[in-house]
Amino acid sequence: MEKIANYINGALVPPGSNHYLDNYNPAKGEVYSLIPDSDEKDVEDAVAAAKSAFAAWSELPIDKRSAILLKIASLIETHHEELALAECIDNGKPLKLAKTVDIPRAAANFRFYGSIITGFSSESHMTDVTAINYTVRKPVGIAGCISPWNLPLYLFTWKIAPALAAGNCVVAKPSEITPMTAYLLSKICIDAGLPKGVLNIVHGLGSKAGEAIIAHPEIPAISFTGGTVTGKKIATIAGPMFKKLSLELGGKNPNIIFEDCDFDKALSTSIQSSFSNQGQICLCGSRILVHESIYERFKDSFLEKTRNLVIGDPLADGTQIGALVSDNHLKKVLSYVALAQQEGGTVLTGGKQVHLNKGLENGYFMEPAVIEGLDYRCRTNQEEIFGPVVTLTPFKSEEEAVLYANSTEYGLSATIWTERLNRAHRVSERLKSGIIWVNCWMVRDLRTPFGGMKQSGVGREGGVEALRFFTEVKNVCVKI
Ligand code: NAD
Repeated sequence: MEKIANYINGALVPPGSNHYLDNYNPAKGEVYSLIPDSDEKDVEDAVAAAKSAFAAWSELPIDKRSAILLKIASLIETHHEELALAECIDNGKPLKLAKTVDIPRAAANFRFYGSIITGFSSESHMTDVTAINYTVRKPVGIAGCISPWNLPLYLFTWKIAPALAAGNCVVAKPSEITPMTAYLLSKICIDAGLPKGVLNIVHGLGSKAGEAIIAHPEIPAISFTGGTVTGKKIATIAGPMFKKLSLELGGKNPNIIFEDCDFDKALSTSIQSSFSNQGQICLCGSRILVHESIYERFKDSFLEKTRNLVIGDPLADGTQIGALVSDNHLKKVLSYVALAQQEGGTVLTGGKQVHLNKGLENGYFMEPAVIEGLDYRCRTNQEEIFGPVVTLTPFKSEEEAVLYANSTEYGLSATIWTERLNRAHRVSERLKSGIIWVNCWMVRDLRTPFGGMKQSGVGREGGVEALRFFTEVKNVCVKI
């Protein structure tokens, strides 16, 4: 069975303990490779490698640093098929999604940061006629990057690329649930000529390898994407150490459908925003709020389209709904369907585990669920489920839609469907979400700041925000 290796000091190495964890193929429900169960000692080795690489990497002329990052982007494109297949097997997502979203975006992350670093500049300010201030931005040193399982290579590279571009060395840990593409990225970095120690990838558990990265005194900046509970734990460790902290956390995003929307576009995009990647995208709109005047029409059409979604082998061409990422996660999502019923909701369709055939009998598949009849304040409508489960709730007025939308502790993203320009701006203004889409979903421009409000996190990634995050700032004030 294939053993994944850590990538430390430019080499693919086993964990010091020689202990491994099982890596599951969620479509088959069986172990297909082994993951290093790394510990503090492996993280220590990674930090030592990063420390010795830092001076040369941070002082490398920017065009040379940029060229290496662009080379990594090209190699991701060259290995596109292999990476997409690995991501599909590791994660359970349809191969088509991995091919069209995850892997192209991973390449785009390196291409984007490899390019914009060459134009990154700092500021100067004249203080009347008495002084000139100039601001210097330097890499922080070693950045710790920790990512989740839902968009494995995309989110992993989303952190690593800006950290490296800004001149840092990195110690990174992908999710232990989906480690394979990060492992393949190690090989790509070697082929691209990334100097040894600049990027170090340590695999393993969050509670062991992850916490060792967070707590390491020589890692002054942490960029984390994952659950809100984990984010809180990380903040309690990193906060008192005064580390720079970027936390991209959970969401419970509203998808608001006004009566004046383009009905067909709202409907078809809502199917995507509800169930893409089996609903396991932090930006999925899991609470669909529909104006009462079109509620029944929307509900009927939405149910019909949901029932027509093809649940199947992630590797097969026509598959729209693949496997959930793990047995534990499937159980969690199913428990929320049961909770919704206890809370008085009606499951209009789906919500049950599906047993496929041809070797996929033990896979973690479920029918996408649509639930109605719940109060907007109940747990099903307040807690992140992170699976193919949406609730439908009618609203009477704009006021009520905004009240429902803003009622959760999360504030990651929101979608608004309306053809009225003033309404689109007015409602956007009132929503407490870091990202608001009007008449679209998941359209991303890498230059825009990305992140959540409230319990969805602190800090912003994307664009120059990420480059700034990975730098420390000094202002020099010179009397003239
Ligand atoms: P998770 O919090 O369980 O794990 C995320 C990563 O953190 C993993 O690599 C894990 O090993 C590590 N980790 C766990 N405990 C740790 C600890 N104590 N110290 C250090 N590292 C630790 O999240 P998940 O289940 O992998 O991902 C799903 C969650 O991620 C959802 O809540 C989803 O909304 C969120 N998410 C957010 C965004 C965003 O951009 N806001 C994007 C994708 C996913």
